[in-house]
Amino acid sequence: MAGVFVMGSINQDFVLRVERRPGPGETVTDAELSLHPGGKGANQSAAAALLGAEVAFLGRVGDDGLGEPLVRNLREKGVDAGLVERVAGRSTGAAFITVTPDGENAITVAPGANRALLPPDVEAARERIAASRVLVAQMEIPRETVFRGVEVASEAGTRVLLNLAPPFEVPGELLGLLDPLVVNEHEAAFLLGEPVEGVEGALAAAPELLGLGARSAVITLGPAGAVFALEGRAEHASAPRVRAVDTTGAGDAFVGALAARLAAGEALGEAVAYAVRAGAAAVTREGAQGALPTPEVVEGL
Ligand code: ADP
Repeated sequence: MAGVFVMGSINQDFVLRVERRPGPGETVTDAELSLHPGGKGANQSAAAALLGAEVAFLGRVGDDGLGEPLVRNLREKGVDAGLVERVAGRSTGAAFITVTPDGENAITVAPGANRALLPPDVEAARERIAASRVLVAQMEIPRETVFRGVEVASEAGTRVLLNLAPPFEVPGELLGLLDPLVVNEHEAAFLLGEPVEGVEGALAAAPELLGLGARSAVITLGPAGAVFALEGRAEHASAPRVRAVDTTGAGDAFVGALAARLAAGEALGEAVAYAVRAGAAAVTREGAQGALPTPEVVEGL
C-alpha cells in the first residue's frame, strides 16, 4: 500500500544563468546552461519518498527523449513511477528559467504532456488512490483532472492535500474536501482578495480559508515558517534559521514532507512542524530536487 499518491506535473527544467536578459530581437551569447528535473508533482513525490514515505506518482511525459531520464530519476529517488505514461506526439513538460546575477528568476513553462493527464487517467488509478492514505495534487495539470482526483480520493476515504499553485478560484464544493489546502502568502492573498503578510497576517488569514470551506489550511511564510488552521484555531510553526542559498523548491520540499508525515499518521500540527524544517533544509542547497533533504538532515536542524 502506497502511503502517498501524487498526481501532477513532471518537467525538464532548463536553467540559463545570464548576465542580463536579451530584449526583443536581441541575442545574448554568454549563458550557462544546466538541466534539472522539475515540475511540482515530481518534486513533491521525490521529497516525500526521500523522507521515507511510500510514494506513487501519476503523470505524463512526451515521446521526445526528455521524458525517460526524468522517470528514471524519480525511480532512483524511490518513487513508484509505474503509472507514468508516454504520450505520442507531445513534448515532455519543460520550464525555461533565466537567472540574472541579482538572483531574479524569469520563467517560461511549456506544459506539453502534462496537459494530457485527463480525468479518465485518474479513474483508471482509482484503486491505487483508494489504497493510499494521502492524495497530493497541485495545479500544473488540467483542473478537471485535479477535481476528479480530489473527488475520487474523497469517495474512497483518502485524505486530500491540495497545493493550490498556481492559484485560481476554487469551487466551494471542492474546498470542502481539502484537508489541508496548502498555499503560500501570495496564493492565500489571491484566494482571500486581500494582502496576507507575515505571521500575524497568516494567523488571521488561515481561519478565513476555513471560512471559505477548507477543512484545514496551511499558509507557508518563507523564512517565517508556516501557519496552520484547524477547527477554527490557528497556530504558527517557526522555521529554523538557516543560510538561504537557493529557495527554489522550498515549497515542494514542504508539501512532500507534510504529505509523508500525514501518511505516517501524524496530526496536522506535528506534520507542519516537521515540514517547516524540511523546507528550511531545502533552501540551504542549490536546485529543487537536488536540494531535497533526507530524514537525517531534517532531524539535524
Ligand atoms: P514557496 O516556495 O511555495 O513560495 P515558501 O517560500 O513559503 O514557499 O517556503 C516553504 C517553506 O520552506 C517555508 O514554510 C519554510 O519552512 C521553508 N523556507 C523557505 N524559505 C526559507 C528561508 N529563507 N529560511 C528558512 N526556511 C525557509
